[in-house]
Amino acid sequence: MQTTRSAELFERAQQVIPGGVNSPVRAFQSVGGTPRFIQRASGPHLYDADGNDYIDLVCSWGPMLLGHAHPSVLSAVGKVVVDGTSFGAPTEAEVELAEAIIERTPVEEVRLVSSGTEATMSVLRLARGVTGRDKIVKFAGCYHGHVDSLLVAAGSGAATLGLPGSPGVTAATTADTLVCEYNDRDAVRQLFAEYGDQIACVITEAAAGNMGVVPPGVDAADGTNFNEFLRDICHANGALFISDEVMTGFRVSPAGQFGIDGVRPDLMTFGKVMGGGFPAAAFGGSRELMQRLAPAGDVYQAGTLSGNPVAVAAGLTTLRLATDDVYAHIGETSARLREEVAKALSVFGVPHVIQNAGSLFSVFFTPDDTVTAVPDYATAKTQRTDRFAAFFHAMLDAGVYLPPSAYEGWFLSSTHDDAALARIVDALPRAAAAAARV
Ligand code: PMP
Repeated sequence: MQTTRSAELFERAQQVIPGGVNSPVRAFQSVGGTPRFIQRASGPHLYDADGNDYIDLVCSWGPMLLGHAHPSVLSAVGKVVVDGTSFGAPTEAEVELAEAIIERTPVEEVRLVSSGTEATMSVLRLARGVTGRDKIVKFAGCYHGHVDSLLVAAGSGAATLGLPGSPGVTAATTADTLVCEYNDRDAVRQLFAEYGDQIACVITEAAAGNMGVVPPGVDAADGTNFNEFLRDICHANGALFISDEVMTGFRVSPAGQFGIDGVRPDLMTFGKVMGGGFPAAAFGGSRELMQRLAPAGDVYQAGTLSGNPVAVAAGLTTLRLATDDVYAHIGETSARLREEVAKALSVFGVPHVIQNAGSLFSVFFTPDDTVTAVPDYATAKTQRTDRFAAFFHAMLDAGVYLPPSAYEGWFLSSTHDDAALARIVDALPRAAAAAARV
């Protein structure tokens, strides 16, 4: 596979952009090699600057639920863009997008923003404003964007690069952030026992997807799922339960992880799919809580491009086209792919655990066969990332673009058809063999 043009562009990029990329995980840092510079994309395909064609299992890290360059999304964008691209004044379409989000989720009001980071940052401010408390609880390996106070034991790029915090985040900023292992109920109980009346909220990924996919665990004794436990302990202590559905929302089911476990959070964050590939995100909750936001209430929050008409058109069209059939297709494709990956890895004796939340899944290259489940970040970190890197590059060479990190989920779209799946499946044996050789 020829990659000279990507290599040239990467060289040039590194002169003007830190690390050559505008978001860390794109840099192939944890798997090595040259990141591919993408020229265009269509359906399940990515085409790089050298003309190579890949089946894309990243889908822009989630947004492209309908595949790339979906004709209806393009047409909706084309139609609105000629009428002006930003007004700094309200529009009918943003009301429609808010209504579409409310229709699918338990929130009663939403505020649109431009990125998932903004959504989580804003929702923390609202939770603190409403409760009058300062402390927040987050989980190791959960990533909620690069919000200062949440850049503590974060997942995603931070997990991959082994940066459990970041220079530039002050001790004062994180002093009110309490961290414990995901799915560890005793640790949460302990935090509440110690700080109960100071905790404004618990923020969690609805199903963790930034340390690999780690769904909320179910308690063997009482059958409750982790989200349910969190909601109950929050409410028993006057704290708010915040579910971050930026990654899972409108992807793992029509109503996100809420559609799977039915646990109603006090506040929720959304992004990715609801922006249809444009910068749009949102947060929402009960009318009572959301009415505390300016200008209705006293908690300040704002954005020049919030509810941007082009992003809203793309998001609204995507949600309208994300029918039950779409989710059924993606769910089925995901199940088939998980089975094929497991088969290939087993044939070559590569220890692994595959976990999913709806159609979102990831493959953990576990150190040995004694690890049969990955409930938390501590376990996720025992992965053989060297094996993943070998697997990743063999897949890439065969024209399959996996997330370039062992800590990321694999994303599918409605355009991943039998032909796309066949190409992935064909590539698996060599990739599994490559992983086995490490
Ligand atoms: N929350 C979650 C769960 C995410 O996965 C992400 C991004 N991967 C974010 C928040 C941040 O979103 P953004 O990158 O749009 O700021």
